[in-house]
Formats: sequence, structure tokens, C-alpha cells
Amino acid sequence: MTTDQRDDCLFCRIYAGEIPADKVAEGEDWMAFRDIDPQAPVHVLIIPRRHVESVAAFEPEDAELAGRLLLAAAETARRLGVEEDGYRLVTNRGEKAGQSVFHLHLHLLAGRRMNWPPG
Ligand code: AMP
Repeated sequence: MTTDQRDDCLFCRIYAGEIPADKVAEGEDWMAFRDIDPQAPVHVLIIPRRHVESVAAFEPEDAELAGRLLLAAAETARRLGVEEDGYRLVTNRGEKAGQSVFHLHLHLLAGRRMNWPPG
């Protein structure tokens, strides 16, 4: 693992291939894999290689990485064939908002009608 990855972080370990995951897409510094507890017919997580705790930990110099992650999510949706039908991207920051893994991830949810407001 490089220094920007943590051996006590579940998603760093998935990225490193130490813990198996159902990978659906990857780029130079990100990967997308299926959520183990899907909340929709398609539920994929997009993570950066670098350990970033949440969107709140981004610094101005991370603007490019932040943008690449959004592009990665759009590319993943395209590859999964859900672009036309529609999808939702969610990122939880903090326990109260529902964050349980403290390595930034975008949830890509698709394949069913989404409710608004979210719960
Ligand atoms: P959050 O609650 O927003 O932090 O999202 C974390 C997500 O990671 C949850 O939807 C979990 O179901 C998912 N998750 C936890 N462990 C794994 C795993 N080993 N492989 C895939 N997804 C996982």
C-alpha cells in the first residue's frame, strides 16, 4: 500500500485487492464495485484510491480528484447501462447522515423509482 492508503480502512483494503469486491469499473485512481447490501437493483460504490475520509476532507487542491470522481460515476452508470433510465448519486458525510465507512464513496443507485425527499 502507498502512504495515502490505510491498512485499517475497509475500502483501502478493497482497493488494494486484500478484500474481495465485485468490481464493475475502474480508472487510474478510482474503482467502482457493487455494494454488499444493495438498496436498489443497481447499487455501486465509487471510491478514490487515496484515503479521503469524506467530501468534507477535500481541500481546494483536491478539485481535480473531486471532479474525476463525478466523471467516474457517470462513466460507471454508462457502462452499467442505467444512464437513460436514470440514477441517483449520494455521498454521506458523518454518522448522522448515514456514513458508516469513513473512506469517501459515491453511491450510484438505479433500477427503481427513487423517492424524494430521501429518508
Ligand atoms: P455509507 O453508509 O454511506 O458509509 O456506505 C457504506 C456502504 O458500504 C454501505 O452501503 C455498505 O453496505 C457498504 N459496504 C460495507 N462493507 C462492504 C463490502 N465489504 N463490500 C461492499 N460494500 C460494502
